[in-house]
Amino acid sequence: MTKILHRTIGTNLPKAVAGEGIYITDSEGRSYIDGSGGAAVSCLGHNHPEVLDAMKAQMGRISYAHTSFFTTDVAEQLAEQLVELAPEGLDYVYLVSGGSEAVEAALKMARQYYVEIGQPQRRHIIARRQSYHGNTIGALATGGNAWRREQFKPILPESHHVSPCYAYRDMQPGETHEDYAERLAAELETKIVELGADKVMAFVAEPVVGATLGAVGPVADYFKRVRQICDKYGILLILDEVMCGMGRTGTIFALEQEGIVPDLVTIAKGLGGGFQPIGAVLLSEKIYRAFAEGSGLFQHGHTYIGHPIAAAAASKVVEILNRPEMMHNVIKMGDRLQAGLDAALGQSPYVGDLRGRGLFRGVEIVADKDAKQPFDPARKIHAKIRKEAMQRGLMCYPMGGTIDGKHGDHVLLAPPYIIQPEEIDLIVERLAAAIDAAAKN
Ligand code: PMP
Repeated sequence: MTKILHRTIGTNLPKAVAGEGIYITDSEGRSYIDGSGGAAVSCLGHNHPEVLDAMKAQMGRISYAHTSFFTTDVAEQLAEQLVELAPEGLDYVYLVSGGSEAVEAALKMARQYYVEIGQPQRRHIIARRQSYHGNTIGALATGGNAWRREQFKPILPESHHVSPCYAYRDMQPGETHEDYAERLAAELETKIVELGADKVMAFVAEPVVGATLGAVGPVADYFKRVRQICDKYGILLILDEVMCGMGRTGTIFALEQEGIVPDLVTIAKGLGGGFQPIGAVLLSEKIYRAFAEGSGLFQHGHTYIGHPIAAAAASKVVEILNRPEMMHNVIKMGDRLQAGLDAALGQSPYVGDLRGRGLFRGVEIVADKDAKQPFDPARKIHAKIRKEAMQRGLMCYPMGGTIDGKHGDHVLLAPPYIIQPEEIDLIVERLAAAIDAAAKN
């Protein structure tokens, strides 16, 4: 009997014993294509020799040095690499150990920023419905995933939500992308005014929504309008790239495709590529200056921030991601994946929408295609798809529809960037068979 409290109790999970490239092997000798990079984590696949070497070399130097006593070469180097790659205006890096930690740190930076500049009345966070920003209490409160929040609501701090940018379901007939972006911007502005413009501190959004909606990107101009509204009211814009960042969508930062620069960006997952747990917040000069010229301290901290082995792994991952062939392959294989999904699933009665960017693709499952009617959540189609896919040697990342019926079950695909054409085709073939089997049973 297991002594581990697994996420879903009573499921008989296979035991992973080895990983190589895009494959994971279990103790029975079965091999699975890692079509989701776990949860959009393993961007370079498994057992990458260069990353392993970098970690081993760091272990031979120093494994841990608390950041209130020391800085390290590897952590400094990683920060420099990230700033170098980030759009101009994001000039400093705060290292943490994962995505939720990054979101918590970004929220506290926003709050402390306003305290430092003499606007302590700013305290409201606005985020979007059907978003996910992590499972710790502050991050969970910020996210708008109804199912994940439901039982914890009584202990969550106050937060406020507006509509996500979700064209498949929410764009009205006759509306252009510009009209739609404008309508959403107006909704955000109304919410800000309602809460009191001088009391709002931050708007938080995922550039491409991952865990809750399944690779839903914004329409053109949406983030430009959001940036304008935030600027108009002096509100900080926090973009959460924990899932969609680090090259997943074909650019190192997904926000590069939106033509704006936020005040804070959170990253994790692909940053460590699964070799080590690590996350980071990138922040603007404006915020850094407020701290430096104010209290001289960011009043926060965790035991493992800037962990040298995690930093060594991430530094190597980032170096590899920045090689030209990497983003080239993400775009090329991403196009192939979308084309394959369109061909295999475009006509399926159970598939409402196929979407995404780069190697970040989503399939929305519906019971009635014309009415875009989701399956009854009680049928747990997503869990059935996971089971059918695993039986066919494919890891994909299916999730249930919202309990408020606002979207269907979906499957997220996020394979490693080293994937090859024939492996993309295998993912499509296995996923199409798994969806068909799950929806029929
Ligand atoms: N933000 C986003 C956008 C995420 O997708 C996730 C994880 N799925 C998180 C935050 C939380 O990250 P972690 O699980 O590493 O705490």
